[in-house]
Amino acid sequence: MKKKPFQKKELDEFKKVILKRKDQLIEGIQTISENTLKTSQKDAAGDISGYSYHMADQATDTFDREFSLGLASNEREMVHELDEALNRMDEGTYGICESCKTPIAKARLKAVPYARMCVKCQQAKEKK
Ligand SMILES: [Zn+2]
Repeated sequence: MKKKPFQKKELDEFKKVILKRKDQLIEGIQTISENTLKTSQKDAAGDISGYSYHMADQATDTFDREFSLGLASNEREMVHELDEALNRMDEGTYGICESCKTPIAKARLKAVPYARMCVKCQQAKEKK
C-alpha cells in the first residue's frame, strides 16, 4: 500500500520551493557559462603578445571551461536531485525515507526539499 504523508496542498508548497530553487540554480549555471565565455573572448581579443598565442588561447580556453564546468557540476548535481524529487512527487513516494520507508519530518523537507532519507538514516549513512 502506498503511504501518502502529505496533503496535495502541502505537496504543492514543496513543489513550488523545488521549482524555484531549480530556476535559481539554472540561472546560476547560465551566469557561470556566460562569464566564462565572455572572459575567454576578451582574452582572445586582448592577447596579441607572443608567439603561438593561438595555442596558448586554446589551452586557456580549455582550462577555463573545465574549471567552470567543475564549478557548475555541483549545481547540475543539485538540479538533478531536485528533478528526482519532482519525479518522486509524481510517483507518490516523495517525503518517504528511501531507507526505512517512514515519512521524513516536514521540518527537514522544508530545509532540504529534495531529501531522500530521514535524518536518522542520513546520519547513519554518513557515518559509514
Ligand atoms: Zn529513514
